[in-house]
Amino acid sequence: MVIARTIEALREARASLGGSVGFVPTMGALHEGHLSLIRRAREENVCLIVSVFVNPTQFLEGEDLDAYPRRDEADIKICELSKVDILFMPTIDQMYEQDELCIGAPAVRGYVLEGAKRPGHFDGMLQVVMKLLNLTQADRAYFGKKDAQQLALIMQMVRNYFMGVEIIPCEIVRDSKGLALSSRNIYLTAEEKKRALSLSQSLKKATEMVMAGEKSTQAITKAMETMLESADRVEYVAIVNRAFEPLQEVEIGNTIILVAAWVGKPRLIDNVWI
Ligand code: AMP
Repeated sequence: MVIARTIEALREARASLGGSVGFVPTMGALHEGHLSLIRRAREENVCLIVSVFVNPTQFLEGEDLDAYPRRDEADIKICELSKVDILFMPTIDQMYEQDELCIGAPAVRGYVLEGAKRPGHFDGMLQVVMKLLNLTQADRAYFGKKDAQQLALIMQMVRNYFMGVEIIPCEIVRDSKGLALSSRNIYLTAEEKKRALSLSQSLKKATEMVMAGEKSTQAITKAMETMLESADRVEYVAIVNRAFEPLQEVEIGNTIILVAAWVGKPRLIDNVWI
């Protein structure tokens, strides 16, 4: 495995790869969720590139950029064991210059839900993903459905900018109790971890209601909010279509139910696709 810490080193290593290239971008502190993407990319491509980069431009003022978990040594080992060909771990200086040309999230889809709570977050996320996709020249790039709005916006960027890469959505990985895995889960105490289960449980309840024939998004939202009372603060419960437009009624095959809530220190997100 080549560990590339500069653009030059990445370009050189990339040039030596032959055959299809899969790419998994991450912010590190790798867990089973990341690994499911890495395994899939490993299976579906001849070569595999993983990036670990905590991208400063997608953190808002006052967010947890400095406290974001960093596990470089462990991440390197995990990537080695996962038969990664190139691990790209650039410094901020390698990735950015002063006064950059920026790409912006779309005016509506980029500023609802996560985009409304974290205005500017998606601009920074798209900026770094565009850079990483251009640098890696991958045939396929793998993203988790856990960050559903991020995934939708990346797909839109690839469509709008006629980029050649294929974006592969991957299922959400959960622990045995249902908690969606996240690098930020390490901040949860045992007691908070129990309360954090209310997110996935509320989504399970919503799915059961839909399966039992309930279509009203208002009724489902209400039931979810009741279950989310054990979270410290709910930021949103939303039921939208795949274009992130709000729905009055659930449309089977075209619905995403999302929740964002604070439990203890971290802000958690989860969703289910129906
Ligand atoms: P992050 O390191 O949090 O930026 O995540 C890197 C990639 O891993 C993104 O595409 C995430 O959606 C994906 N990911 C993170 N957690 C999970 C999970 N629990 N299940 C599936 N994918 C995940």
